[in-house]
Amino acid sequence: MNSPIIFLFSFSYNGTMCHNEVLIITQRCTVCTHEFVKDIDNALIEGVSFRNISAQYGVSKSSVYRHKHSHLSQKITKEKEISDFNNLCGDVESLKTICNDILDELRKRNIEV
Ligand SMILES: [Zn+2]
Repeated sequence: MNSPIIFLFSFSYNGTMCHNEVLIITQRCTVCTHEFVKDIDNALIEGVSFRNISAQYGVSKSSVYRHKHSHLSQKITKEKEISDFNNLCGDVESLKTICNDILDELRKRNIEV
C-alpha cells in the first residue's frame, strides 16, 4: 500500500507569508512490497517484536511499526469481513436446504404449501 506524504512549504519575503505550495510524494511501504509480507504480518499478529522482525526480514523497525498501524489493521478488517460474508453465505445455504427438506416432507404428506 502507498502512503502519501504531504509537505506544505511556506515561502516568505520580509517576514510575511506570501506563497504556499503543497507537494505530495507517494511513498511505497517497504513491508507491503516485501516478498515475505505474509510472514511479517503473521509475525506481527503473533506478537513478535519490531526489532526481531526488523532483523529477520531486513526492514527498519519504523517501517514495521508504520505497516502494523497503517496497513495490517486494514488487511485484518477486510479479511474478517470476507470471512463473515462467507460464513453468512454458508448459513443461507443451510437454511435453504432445511426449507427444501420441510417442503419435501409436506408434499409427501400431501399438505398444500
Ligand atoms: Zn504496509
